[in-house]
Amino acid sequence: MNEISKRRTFAIISHPDAGKTTVTEKLLLYAGAIKTAGSVKARKANTHATSDWMEVEKERGISITSSIMQFAYDNHVINLLDTPGHEDFSEDTYRTLTAVDSALMVIDAAKGVEMRTIKLMEVCRLRNTPILTFINKLDREGKEPIDLLDEIETVLNIECAPITWPIGMGKHFKGIVHLLEDKVYLCEIGKNSKIGEYIIIDDVNNSQLDEILGEDTILKIREEIELIHETTTPFSLDEFLAGKQTPVFFGSAISNFGIQNLLDGFIQYAPTPKNRESDVREVKPDEDKLTGFVFKIQANMNPKHHDRLAFMRIVSGQYKKGMKVLQVSTNKQIKISNAVTFMSNERTFAEVAYAGDIIGIHNHGGISIGDTFTQGEKLTFQGIPNFSPELFRRAQLKDPLKTKALQKGLKQLSEEGATQVFHPIINSSQILGAVGILQFDVVAHRLKHEYGVDCQFETINIATARWVTGSDKDIEQLKIKAGNNIAIDARGMLAYLAPSSVNLQLTIERYPNLVFLATREH
Ligand code: GDP
Repeated sequence: MNEISKRRTFAIISHPDAGKTTVTEKLLLYAGAIKTAGSVKARKANTHATSDWMEVEKERGISITSSIMQFAYDNHVINLLDTPGHEDFSEDTYRTLTAVDSALMVIDAAKGVEMRTIKLMEVCRLRNTPILTFINKLDREGKEPIDLLDEIETVLNIECAPITWPIGMGKHFKGIVHLLEDKVYLCEIGKNSKIGEYIIIDDVNNSQLDEILGEDTILKIREEIELIHETTTPFSLDEFLAGKQTPVFFGSAISNFGIQNLLDGFIQYAPTPKNRESDVREVKPDEDKLTGFVFKIQANMNPKHHDRLAFMRIVSGQYKKGMKVLQVSTNKQIKISNAVTFMSNERTFAEVAYAGDIIGIHNHGGISIGDTFTQGEKLTFQGIPNFSPELFRRAQLKDPLKTKALQKGLKQLSEEGATQVFHPIINSSQILGAVGILQFDVVAHRLKHEYGVDCQFETINIATARWVTGSDKDIEQLKIKAGNNIAIDARGMLAYLAPSSVNLQLTIERYPNLVFLATREH
């Protein structure tokens, strides 16, 4: 219980450029998990050093895969899951969000709520994930704080409860008032401020502040604080945990300011590992037996060996080195002797891990996203989504002798969730589906470098796909009448590939007893 109550597992979400990487780095710095600024940036820029295929990422300067960092802070163990910012890899982000208990939303003070933030918020809402908000870049001129709160409330439809409040902005940014502690934290921006370089003054009415800030500034701030207390809703832990209210922190990640308040608030408010629904029952974190699910698979250090790491979120019990677990989908026992945990950016071998933690299991294929592992109980965790692709390509081999290698490559890449693969029932072609166009580039690159397969992707006349379920009789009818549009996906599920949305609509009307699903569980 003690280990569980210490744990906080969360993801950072934001529109690209709002400062997610910088905030991550500063959180790690404050927790003492890294020693120098620049480490996380370096990770972002040098990914090619650890994994060849990430050259794609390097070339395009975007972060494709989520990475996991565990660090200790104030007697807590924090698991931070980074998410790709680029929308073409949103599926990866959505799956990562199924593995966390809360999320930190970073917003650029000058830009306010942006496109990706809106989408990500919708995903968080599916599971009522509690969200903390950090409004970043106060060292630059931005929107008025009160307008930012208004924007979050109206656009994202979530109540804001400010925890801190900024004093000034841009060149005149002087610090923050902690509304719950009634303390003022003063900083000196522009000095390239170091960690912990700030003055704390009790009580916003303290006369010391008149001297330091000047009478005009402090009077304005006192008025503002009074107004804030009157017009905003006070923070409620219950409302936050229900996903209805977000505590808001202000700061400037680049100047190391506001981050410590955020971190302190985070460990105080963010939820401990939660219960999780399975197809059989709800599983509690303090149960003795280990259970967990795979939400992400990543090609590992040496892509040529097809060595892969499956990221498993532990839902209950404990992982101990060398233990045997049941892979429920295949009914096979596997021994996990070499799982890794993630301390900052280094990987260390885990001796033990608890509910809330993420462990990485080495494998050479055979583990898929959505797989549940238990100590024998046959249950499967729910809610890891697979979205209907919006883009389709037919794989066209340059060398026909490579058919086997292509099949293997596509099978493994689809297990990882890098792409979806559909096999039409009328011919032996392979159709790839993706949510974002860059996914095809990654797949082409990886097929070439990891599987030695050169292939082109042709555009194909498919607009959308739906997974189909229903009685055998109805499915047979559909196969007879619309066989050209039917395919089987990598997990053996039947899918209808529609050339247009009109066609899809007509088909749905024609087969009222069949269910056409836009999302399926892994
Ligand atoms: P990400 O794309 O969300 O991960 O954003 P980054 O952390 O890479 O930041 C994007 C840009 O904003 C970089 O040039 C950062 O140096 C800059 N940035 C991040 N935090 C701040 C901040 O607090 N103030 C200012 N002025 N710039 C910042």
